[in-house]
Amino acid sequence: MNWNLDADSRPICILGLGLIGGSLMRDLAAAGRGVFGWNRSEKTVHAAQRDGFNVSEDLQATLERAEASDALVVLCVPVPALPTMLEALKEHAPSVGFTDVTSVKAEVHALVDQYGLTDRFVGGHPMAGTADSGWSVTLKGLFQGAVWVVTYDNAVSLGDADSSGSRWVDTWVRVVCMAQLVGADVVPSISRRHDGSVARISHLPHVLAEALAMAGDAGGPLALTLAASSFRDGTRVAGTAPELVRAMCENNRSSLLTALDETLEILHSAREALADDSRDLRELAAEGHAARGRFEARAGRNKGDQTNRPIIRVRPGAPGWVEQLESAESMGAQISIF
Ligand code: NAP
Repeated sequence: MNWNLDADSRPICILGLGLIGGSLMRDLAAAGRGVFGWNRSEKTVHAAQRDGFNVSEDLQATLERAEASDALVVLCVPVPALPTMLEALKEHAPSVGFTDVTSVKAEVHALVDQYGLTDRFVGGHPMAGTADSGWSVTLKGLFQGAVWVVTYDNAVSLGDADSSGSRWVDTWVRVVCMAQLVGADVVPSISRRHDGSVARISHLPHVLAEALAMAGDAGGPLALTLAASSFRDGTRVAGTAPELVRAMCENNRSSLLTALDETLEILHSAREALADDSRDLRELAAEGHAARGRFEARAGRNKGDQTNRPIIRVRPGAPGWVEQLESAESMGAQISIF
């Protein structure tokens, strides 16, 4: 079977039209996909309607429409809002497949399981964003060239037999195709391995950026006047809405604690070296520089540069596809499906 979302006329329904949901809506509409959505606050609904989008503040009616049109539902709200969404989804859209965009995956999988919705769920996480919030800051092209993680926990439970006719595999393929349609590169991951990785490269940077912003600020007006690019770059994500930072970090505690403990050890030994005139920061500077070099070799020096990610071809639902996904994940490879 060839998977091609262009041949799929089923629409996409986005719940939550902030930075991520609103930007997704803009890109899907620009790509010609049928897309409609819902948002809690009236102000956003009116702004999106003024921009020509098909959105509503009636959650029940939006979900009933999703059910009637077999839409793929995308939950674009923070983790604390998910229980209400799942409750409504269960009641008003009892058969549709759905995904999410939250930056933690194991807790979300567990929550979805509690609601008995696991066989309809594929986790997602676009590794794209800014520190701004709301419809007014939505951007066209936000996901272009970004990695979009798609979980495959359920593929492991389905086993290695031919499951190409499965409804869950159909949802998985729709999520992959949606991400690719907005220009993202899909990388598969099991939820707990995703959480271990994002603790290091996303949640830890948030914690460190908050601490760095506070340390700089404690220097008073002169320090803030002198602050230039290194302070601006290092504290950029401290500009994120505090409730989003809390939702990310507090829902990934154990992986974040591991990453934070390792970092504290590094900082502690840097402190010891600084406090002792007979020692220096050679090791920290050399190892940090080499680590940054490895990141640049994989991801490019600047945002938008060519990456060096391998690409693995995957045939969804076919025997052996779980192994294909596992090897893609172990290499941090993006996938193409055929
Ligand atoms: P955002 O711009 O602040 O938008 C949040 C959206 O969630 C708004 O539509 C808001 O509706 C809605 N919402 C918040 N609390 C709600 C509640 N209790 N009930 C119903 N709706 C609620 O945030 P965002 O950056 O788009 O983040 C949305 C999700 O994307 C989060 O899970 C975040 O982890 C994930 N994510 C963010 C980034 C990033 O860089 N920002 C990157 C990847 C993934 P109102 O308009 O009514 O407030």
